[in-house]
Amino acid sequence: MASQSSRDIQQAVYGVLGQDIQYSLSPAIFRHVFALLKWQAVYAIFDRGPARLERFVKAAPDAGIAGFNVTKPYKVEIIEHLNRLDTTARDVGAVNAVACRSTGGVGYNTDIDGVDAALASYRKRLTGKPVLIVGAGGAARATAYALVKRFGVTDITFVVRSPKRAERVARDLDDHLSRVTFDIVHVDKLEGDPRVKAAALIVNATPVGTGSERNRLPISPRVDLSPRTVVFDLIYRPRQTRFLERAQRAGCRTVSGWPMLIAQAEAAFRIWTGRDFPKKARRQLLNWDPDR
Ligand code: NAP
Repeated sequence: MASQSSRDIQQAVYGVLGQDIQYSLSPAIFRHVFALLKWQAVYAIFDRGPARLERFVKAAPDAGIAGFNVTKPYKVEIIEHLNRLDTTARDVGAVNAVACRSTGGVGYNTDIDGVDAALASYRKRLTGKPVLIVGAGGAARATAYALVKRFGVTDITFVVRSPKRAERVARDLDDHLSRVTFDIVHVDKLEGDPRVKAAALIVNATPVGTGSERNRLPISPRVDLSPRTVVFDLIYRPRQTRFLERAQRAGCRTVSGWPMLIAQAEAAFRIWTGRDFPKKARRQLLNWDPDR
Protein backbone atom coordinates (compact mmCIF):
# COMPACT_ATOMS: atom_id res chain seq x y z
CA MET A 1 0.00 0.00 0.00
CA ALA A 2 2.77 2.42 1.05
CA SER A 3 4.85 1.66 -2.04
CA GLN A 4 1.75 2.04 -4.23
CA SER A 5 1.14 5.53 -2.89
CA SER A 6 4.83 6.37 -3.22
CA ARG A 7 4.68 5.21 -6.86
CA ASP A 8 1.58 7.35 -7.41
CA ILE A 9 3.41 10.38 -6.07
CA GLN A 10 6.35 9.73 -8.39
CA GLN A 11 4.14 9.38 -11.45
CA ALA A 12 1.58 12.08 -10.72
CA VAL A 13 0.83 15.29 -12.56
CA TYR A 14 1.69 18.60 -10.87
CA GLY A 15 1.57 22.12 -12.26
CA VAL A 16 0.92 25.80 -11.86
CA LEU A 17 -2.51 27.39 -12.31
CA GLY A 18 -2.79 31.01 -13.43
CA GLN A 19 -3.53 33.22 -16.41
CA ASP A 20 -1.00 34.40 -19.02
CA ILE A 21 1.80 32.58 -17.20
CA GLN A 22 3.80 31.04 -20.03
CA TYR A 23 6.84 32.87 -18.58
CA SER A 24 6.64 30.81 -15.32
CA LEU A 25 9.90 29.25 -14.12
CA SER A 26 8.09 26.68 -11.94
CA PRO A 27 8.07 23.96 -14.65
CA ALA A 28 11.86 24.25 -15.03
CA ILE A 29 12.35 24.06 -11.23
CA PHE A 30 10.15 21.00 -10.70
CA ARG A 31 11.30 19.17 -13.85
CA HIS A 32 14.88 19.55 -12.63
CA VAL A 33 13.93 17.97 -9.30
CA PHE A 34 11.94 15.12 -10.92
CA ALA A 35 14.86 14.40 -13.28
CA LEU A 36 17.36 14.18 -10.39
CA LEU A 37 14.98 11.87 -8.50
CA LYS A 38 14.38 9.82 -11.68
CA TRP A 39 10.63 10.24 -11.21
CA GLN A 40 8.16 9.98 -14.09
CA ALA A 41 6.13 12.92 -12.70
CA VAL A 42 4.93 15.73 -14.95
CA TYR A 43 4.78 19.48 -14.14
CA ALA A 44 2.51 21.47 -16.47
CA ILE A 45 1.34 25.03 -16.95
CA PHE A 46 -2.44 25.27 -16.45
CA ASP A 47 -3.26 28.58 -18.12
CA ARG A 48 -6.97 29.01 -17.44
CA GLY A 49 -9.54 31.81 -17.63
CA PRO A 50 -11.51 32.61 -14.45
CA ALA A 51 -14.66 30.85 -15.70
CA ARG A 52 -12.79 27.52 -15.72
CA LEU A 53 -11.41 27.63 -12.17
CA GLU A 54 -14.17 25.67 -10.45
CA ARG A 55 -14.16 22.90 -13.06
CA PHE A 56 -10.38 22.70 -12.94
CA VAL A 57 -10.29 22.13 -9.16
CA LYS A 58 -13.11 19.55 -9.29
CA ALA A 59 -11.59 17.59 -12.16
CA ALA A 60 -8.00 17.66 -10.85
CA PRO A 61 -7.95 14.31 -8.92
CA ASP A 62 -9.52 12.37 -11.82
CA ALA A 63 -6.99 13.95 -14.16
CA GLY A 64 -4.19 12.49 -12.03
CA ILE A 65 -3.20 15.90 -10.63
CA ALA A 66 -1.78 15.43 -7.13
CA GLY A 67 -1.12 19.10 -6.45
CA PHE A 68 -0.66 22.45 -8.12
CA ASN A 69 0.76 25.87 -7.44
CA VAL A 70 -1.47 28.91 -7.83
CA THR A 71 -0.20 32.18 -9.19
CA LYS A 72 -1.51 35.45 -10.54
CA PRO A 73 -4.32 36.36 -10.60
CA TYR A 74 -5.92 33.50 -8.63
CA LYS A 75 -4.21 33.37 -5.22
CA VAL A 76 -7.33 34.78 -3.53
CA GLU A 77 -10.04 33.70 -5.98
CA ILE A 78 -9.08 30.02 -5.74
CA ILE A 79 -10.11 29.93 -2.06
CA GLU A 80 -13.85 29.70 -2.73
CA HIS A 81 -13.29 26.55 -4.81
CA LEU A 82 -11.33 24.67 -2.15
CA ASN A 83 -12.61 22.23 0.44
CA ARG A 84 -10.26 23.31 3.22
CA LEU A 85 -7.48 25.78 4.04
CA ASP A 86 -4.61 25.28 6.40
CA THR A 87 -4.42 27.86 9.18
CA THR A 88 -1.71 29.99 7.63
CA ALA A 89 -3.42 30.25 4.25
CA ARG A 90 -6.66 31.15 6.02
CA ASP A 91 -5.00 33.87 8.11
CA VAL A 92 -3.10 35.32 5.14
CA GLY A 93 -6.16 35.11 2.89
CA ALA A 94 -4.16 33.79 -0.07
CA VAL A 95 -3.26 30.34 -1.42
CA ASN A 96 -0.30 29.49 -3.63
CA ALA A 97 -0.28 25.69 -3.32
CA VAL A 98 -3.13 23.19 -3.44
CA ALA A 99 -3.05 19.50 -2.53
CA CYS A 100 -5.70 17.56 -4.49
CA ARG A 101 -7.63 15.08 -2.36
CA SER A 102 -10.62 12.96 -3.34
CA THR A 103 -12.67 15.14 -0.97
CA GLY A 104 -11.55 18.38 -2.66
CA GLY A 105 -8.61 20.78 -2.73
CA VAL A 106 -6.67 21.79 0.39
CA GLY A 107 -5.07 25.24 0.19
CA TYR A 108 -1.71 26.29 1.62
CA ASN A 109 0.45 29.39 1.56
CA THR A 110 4.09 28.46 1.04
CA ASP A 111 5.19 32.03 0.24
CA ILE A 112 5.46 32.28 4.04
CA ASP A 113 8.06 29.49 4.02
CA GLY A 114 9.80 31.25 1.14
CA VAL A 115 10.17 34.48 3.12
CA ASP A 116 11.27 32.50 6.17
CA ALA A 117 14.05 30.76 4.23
CA ALA A 118 15.18 33.84 2.29
CA LEU A 119 15.62 35.95 5.44
CA ALA A 120 16.73 33.17 7.82
CA SER A 121 20.20 34.61 8.35
CA TYR A 122 18.70 37.95 9.48
CA ARG A 123 16.30 36.54 12.08
CA LYS A 124 18.01 38.08 15.12
CA ARG A 125 18.41 41.45 13.41
CA LEU A 126 14.68 41.67 12.69
CA THR A 127 13.11 40.62 15.97
CA GLY A 128 11.21 43.52 17.52
CA LYS A 129 12.28 45.88 14.73
CA PRO A 130 10.33 48.13 12.33
CA VAL A 131 9.98 47.13 8.67
CA LEU A 132 8.75 48.84 5.47
CA ILE A 133 6.90 46.81 2.83
CA VAL A 134 6.39 48.45 -0.57
CA GLY A 135 3.11 47.16 -2.03
CA ALA A 136 -0.05 45.73 -0.54
CA GLY A 137 -0.90 42.77 -2.78
CA GLY A 138 -0.82 39.05 -2.08
CA ALA A 139 2.96 38.86 -1.67
CA ALA A 140 2.96 41.84 0.72
CA ARG A 141 0.32 40.08 2.83
CA ALA A 142 2.32 36.86 3.01
CA THR A 143 5.53 38.75 3.76
CA ALA A 144 3.96 40.78 6.56
CA TYR A 145 2.47 37.63 8.09
CA ALA A 146 5.80 35.76 7.91
CA LEU A 147 7.72 38.69 9.39
CA VAL A 148 5.41 38.90 12.39
CA LYS A 149 4.88 35.16 12.96
CA ARG A 150 8.33 33.84 12.16
CA PHE A 151 10.63 36.82 12.85
CA GLY A 152 8.88 38.67 15.68
CA VAL A 153 8.64 41.94 13.73
CA THR A 154 6.37 44.30 15.66
CA ASP A 155 6.00 47.35 13.45
CA ILE A 156 5.10 47.29 9.73
CA THR A 157 4.60 50.28 7.44
CA PHE A 158 3.08 49.61 4.02
CA VAL A 159 4.40 51.96 1.35
CA VAL A 160 1.71 52.18 -1.33
CA ARG A 161 0.12 54.10 -4.14
CA SER A 162 -3.42 52.99 -3.16
CA PRO A 163 -3.97 53.36 0.60
CA LYS A 164 -7.42 51.68 0.48
CA ARG A 165 -5.97 48.30 -0.44
CA ALA A 166 -3.29 48.62 2.27
CA GLU A 167 -5.92 49.52 4.87
CA ARG A 168 -7.74 46.28 4.10
CA VAL A 169 -4.55 44.25 4.31
CA ALA A 170 -3.66 45.82 7.66
CA ARG A 171 -7.20 45.21 8.99
CA ASP A 172 -7.28 41.58 7.83
CA LEU A 173 -3.84 40.80 9.27
CA ASP A 174 -4.60 42.63 12.49
CA ASP A 175 -7.44 40.13 13.08
CA HIS A 176 -4.93 37.25 13.14
CA LEU A 177 -1.79 38.82 14.57
CA SER A 178 -1.27 40.29 17.99
CA ARG A 179 1.26 42.82 19.30
CA VAL A 180 1.94 44.41 15.92
CA THR A 181 1.41 47.96 14.70
CA PHE A 182 0.51 48.66 11.08
CA ASP A 183 0.98 52.00 9.38
CA ILE A 184 0.56 53.23 5.81
CA VAL A 185 2.50 55.86 3.84
CA HIS A 186 2.07 56.97 0.23
CA VAL A 187 5.04 56.02 -1.94
CA ASP A 188 5.36 59.66 -3.13
CA LYS A 189 5.73 60.89 0.48
CA LEU A 190 8.63 58.68 1.50
CA GLU A 191 11.46 61.15 0.96
CA GLY A 192 12.65 62.44 4.32
CA ASP A 193 10.35 60.10 6.28
CA PRO A 194 12.34 58.98 9.37
CA ARG A 195 10.83 55.47 9.12
CA VAL A 196 13.06 54.75 6.12
CA LYS A 197 16.32 55.12 8.04
CA ALA A 198 14.85 53.41 11.11
CA ALA A 199 13.75 50.34 9.14
CA ALA A 200 15.66 47.14 9.84
CA LEU A 201 14.27 45.78 6.57
CA ILE A 202 12.73 47.23 3.40
CA VAL A 203 10.85 44.81 1.16
CA ASN A 204 9.81 45.40 -2.43
CA ALA A 205 6.56 43.48 -2.88
CA THR A 206 5.55 45.18 -6.16
CA PRO A 207 6.34 44.09 -9.73
CA VAL A 208 8.34 47.31 -10.22
CA GLY A 209 11.75 46.03 -11.33
CA THR A 210 10.65 43.08 -13.46
CA GLY A 211 9.11 42.55 -16.92
CA SER A 212 8.29 45.81 -18.66
CA GLU A 213 9.20 47.69 -15.44
CA ARG A 214 12.64 46.09 -15.23
CA ASN A 215 14.48 49.42 -15.26
CA ARG A 216 12.31 51.14 -12.68
CA LEU A 217 12.73 51.54 -8.91
CA PRO A 218 9.83 50.88 -6.51
CA ILE A 219 10.75 53.95 -4.43
CA SER A 220 12.24 57.27 -5.52
CA PRO A 221 16.04 57.34 -5.95
CA ARG A 222 15.96 60.45 -3.73
CA VAL A 223 14.92 58.37 -0.70
CA ASP A 224 18.04 57.90 1.42
CA LEU A 225 18.72 54.34 2.60
CA SER A 226 20.66 53.51 5.75
CA PRO A 227 23.52 51.01 5.37
CA ARG A 228 22.10 49.25 8.45
CA THR A 229 18.93 48.35 6.55
CA VAL A 230 18.54 44.97 4.85
CA VAL A 231 16.79 45.28 1.46
CA PHE A 232 14.74 42.31 0.19
CA ASP A 233 13.35 42.40 -3.35
CA LEU A 234 10.70 39.71 -3.93
CA ILE A 235 11.37 39.96 -7.65
CA TYR A 236 13.33 36.92 -8.84
CA ARG A 237 13.93 37.89 -12.45
CA PRO A 238 16.34 39.56 -12.86
CA ARG A 239 18.03 38.16 -9.78
CA GLN A 240 19.82 41.47 -9.37
CA THR A 241 17.21 44.24 -9.70
CA ARG A 242 17.90 47.97 -10.05
CA PHE A 243 16.56 48.34 -6.50
CA LEU A 244 19.07 45.85 -5.11
CA GLU A 245 21.90 47.54 -7.06
CA ARG A 246 20.90 50.86 -5.59
CA ALA A 247 20.69 49.42 -2.06
CA GLN A 248 24.16 47.89 -2.43
CA ARG A 249 25.54 51.28 -3.48
CA ALA A 250 24.05 52.67 -0.24
CA GLY A 251 25.93 49.96 1.71
CA CYS A 252 22.86 47.81 2.49
CA ARG A 253 22.87 44.02 2.63
CA THR A 254 20.49 42.67 0.02
CA VAL A 255 18.38 39.57 -0.56
CA SER A 256 16.91 38.65 -3.94
CA GLY A 257 13.54 36.96 -4.49
CA TRP A 258 15.31 33.93 -5.97
CA PRO A 259 15.87 31.95 -2.73
CA MET A 260 12.23 32.65 -1.81
CA LEU A 261 11.10 31.26 -5.16
CA ILE A 262 13.03 28.05 -4.62
CA ALA A 263 11.97 27.70 -0.95
CA GLN A 264 8.26 28.22 -1.67
CA ALA A 265 8.50 25.59 -4.42
CA GLU A 266 10.22 23.15 -2.06
CA ALA A 267 7.58 23.72 0.62
CA ALA A 268 4.85 22.91 -1.93
CA PHE A 269 6.77 19.78 -3.00
CA ARG A 270 6.94 18.74 0.68
CA ILE A 271 3.16 19.13 1.03
CA TRP A 272 2.48 17.05 -2.09
CA THR A 273 5.09 14.33 -1.63
CA GLY A 274 6.21 14.37 2.02
CA ARG A 275 9.80 14.85 0.83
CA ASP A 276 12.38 17.64 0.67
CA PHE A 277 14.15 18.55 -2.56
CA PRO A 278 17.36 16.52 -2.85
CA LYS A 279 20.20 18.67 -1.48
CA LYS A 280 21.92 18.65 -4.85
CA ALA A 281 18.77 19.96 -6.58
CA ARG A 282 18.39 22.73 -4.02
CA ARG A 283 22.01 23.77 -4.41
CA GLN A 284 21.84 23.73 -8.22
CA LEU A 285 18.56 25.63 -8.27
CA LEU A 286 19.86 28.30 -5.88
CA ASN A 287 22.87 28.82 -8.18
CA TRP A 288 20.83 28.87 -11.39
CA ASP A 289 20.31 32.18 -13.19
CA PRO A 290 17.78 31.77 -16.05
CA ASP A 291 19.15 34.92 -17.71
CA ARG A 292 22.72 33.68 -17.96
P1 NAP B 1 -0.19 41.83 -6.66
O1 NAP B 1 -1.11 41.07 -5.76
O2 NAP B 1 -0.64 42.20 -8.03
O3 NAP B 1 0.25 43.16 -5.85
C1 NAP B 1 1.16 44.06 -6.40
C2 NAP B 1 1.27 45.27 -5.48
O4 NAP B 1 2.22 46.16 -6.08
C3 NAP B 1 -0.01 46.07 -5.33
O5 NAP B 1 -0.07 46.62 -4.03
C4 NAP B 1 0.16 47.18 -6.35
O6 NAP B 1 -0.48 48.40 -6.02
C5 NAP B 1 1.64 47.44 -6.25
N1 NAP B 1 2.14 48.05 -7.50
C6 NAP B 1 2.07 47.55 -8.73
N2 NAP B 1 2.65 48.40 -9.61
C7 NAP B 1 3.08 49.46 -8.87
C8 NAP B 1 3.74 50.66 -9.19
N3 NAP B 1 4.07 50.95 -10.47
N4 NAP B 1 4.04 51.51 -8.16
C9 NAP B 1 3.70 51.22 -6.88
N5 NAP B 1 3.06 50.08 -6.52
C10 NAP B 1 2.76 49.22 -7.51
O7 NAP B 1 1.16 41.03 -6.88
P2 NAP B 1 1.87 40.03 -5.83
O8 NAP B 1 1.37 38.66 -6.05
O9 NAP B 1 1.74 40.63 -4.49
O10 NAP B 1 3.38 40.04 -6.36
C11 NAP B 1 4.20 41.19 -6.21
C12 NAP B 1 5.61 40.86 -6.71
O11 NAP B 1 6.20 39.86 -5.87
C13 NAP B 1 5.64 40.29 -8.13
O12 NAP B 1 6.74 40.82 -8.83
C14 NAP B 1 5.83 38.80 -7.91
O13 NAP B 1 6.52 38.16 -8.98
C15 NAP B 1 6.71 38.81 -6.66
N6 NAP B 1 6.61 37.54 -5.91
C16 NAP B 1 7.76 36.84 -5.74
C17 NAP B 1 7.71 35.63 -5.04
C18 NAP B 1 8.98 34.84 -4.86
O14 NAP B 1 8.89 33.63 -4.59
N7 NAP B 1 10.14 35.46 -4.97
C19 NAP B 1 6.50 35.15 -4.52
C20 NAP B 1 5.35 35.93 -4.69
C21 NAP B 1 5.42 37.12 -5.41
P3 NAP B 1 -2.02 48.69 -6.36
O15 NAP B 1 -2.77 48.03 -5.24
O16 NAP B 1 -2.09 50.17 -6.34
O17 NAP B 1 -2.26 48.09 -7.71
